[in-house]
This record gives sequence, C-alpha cells and structure tokens, in this order.
Amino acid sequence: MVNKTNCALVVLLLLTLSVQGCAKQASNSPANEDKKAPMCEAFAQEFDKEEFRAAYKPLLDKQELLALVDKEHSLPADYIPQDLVGSGKSILRQEARSWMLKMQKAAEKDGINLFPVSAYRSYAYQQMLTRRTRNPDYVAAPGHSQHQLGTAVDFNTVEPEDENIPALKWLRKHAGEYGFSLSFPKGEEQETGYPYEAWHYRYITPQGVFLQDNFFGGSQHKMLTFLHMCLWYPETINTTQQTVKENLLSLTTATLGNKKSENVSQKK
Ligand SMILES: [Zn+2]
Repeated sequence: MVNKTNCALVVLLLLTLSVQGCAKQASNSPANEDKKAPMCEAFAQEFDKEEFRAAYKPLLDKQELLALVDKEHSLPADYIPQDLVGSGKSILRQEARSWMLKMQKAAEKDGINLFPVSAYRSYAYQQMLTRRTRNPDYVAAPGHSQHQLGTAVDFNTVEPEDENIPALKWLRKHAGEYGFSLSFPKGEEQETGYPYEAWHYRYITPQGVFLQDNFFGGSQHKMLTFLHMCLWYPETINTTQQTVKENLLSLTTATLGNKKSENVSQKK
C-alpha cells in the first residue's frame, strides 16, 4: 500500500516535471554532470532538516518563476511569460511587477527614487543587444538572459561606477523584503559567470529570499542551481550518487505528495 502510494507520487512528480515546460535546459554536458552530484551532496544535510522543508514548501509551485537561467542553462527562443504586465522599460510578470511597485513605494518613503532602466527583454531583443554592446562581459547571450524570464530588473543605472548611488545602496538593504535578489554579486563572479552588477535584481519571491539567505549563504545562483539540479530535475543527477538521488526524490515527493493527492481526489 505504502509502496503503491509512493509509486503514484513518483509518477505524479515526473509528470509535473515534464509538464513544467518553461526552462527546457539542455544542460547535460559531461562538465555539468561532474558538478551536480557534489553540489547536491553538499546540501544534503540541510534539506534533511525540518526547517528546510518548511521553507522550501511554498516554492514547490514556483518552478517556472525560479527557473535556472545562466551561462549553461538557457530558455527556448520562443519562451515568453504568459502574464507580462506594464509597459516600456517596466514590463514584468504580474507577481514580480506588483512586488516591484510595493518596493518603489517603500523606497519613495525613504526619499529614494527607484526606477527600472530595463526589465523584460525578449529573445530577439537580447539578440540585438549582444550584437550592439560594447561591454560583452555584461550582456548574456540570447536565451541565457534572466531578463527573458520577465522577473529581472536593472534599477537606475547599468554603470559599474554607480554602485554606491543611494538607490543601489537602498536596494542592498531592502530588496530582499520584496522578494528581489541580487543576481551577480561581488565575489561570485566565478560561479555566475558575470562581473558584479549592483543594479541587476531578480524577483524570486520573499519565500525564495528566505530560503536563499538561510540555507544558501545568500547566494541566488547556488539556490537556483540546487533546486534545478537536485530537486526539480533529479533524474539528471549523476547515477553514481544513487543515495543522494533517492533522498532528494523522497523529499520532493513527500512535500509535493500532499498537495497533488488533494488535487487528484478533487478530480475524482
Ligand atoms: Zn540586467
């Protein structure tokens, strides 16, 4: 009975993963394979903790929003988020935009004028940018930009020498309260593949910031890499790490299980 239930949950999980079609990351290069398993192992003890499970649970249905997009993981050229709102330089996905507006109001109360200079960018726009840029280090290849997700914003400037303007100082202190996280911090250039960008924030939900700060040392890239490689696409983990894989699968199905079985029973 228990086994049957578990099997059903695993099947549901796999179905969910295949339906979550946003980030069809073609990322199974041998180099990637080598990196994954140690990464999952390093955090294995963390997600055994009750606190981790509690913090992770609200993110289970945010897989598209939290898709891993970096130098190695790309979005399809035709990926366009379905709930984009706003206009001009402040087009974002609905949830991200409403939190940005809240954040702008709070900044204003503190005497800070916070404004986006770039938000959602289509694949085609990114193509144009990469052709025109004089700073190729700062511009992601088409499909590899967080801006295509409709959840990333460049605030106030894109000039490295502006890193200490009041708006960016304010963001460093308060962005997390509104679910925004600095994507390319100082000291993480090696991991992210980008120089420090004091202006580029990605909305990862307030719960995502909580998980990032409490379990991943404040690193957005570490957290998203972990979620992608170890939990949401566990089938891509190196097969020699079978135990880790099983632990992760049971964690995912255990938390996902409750919700999904409710859905199933409702449908009946
Ligand atoms: Zn940016």
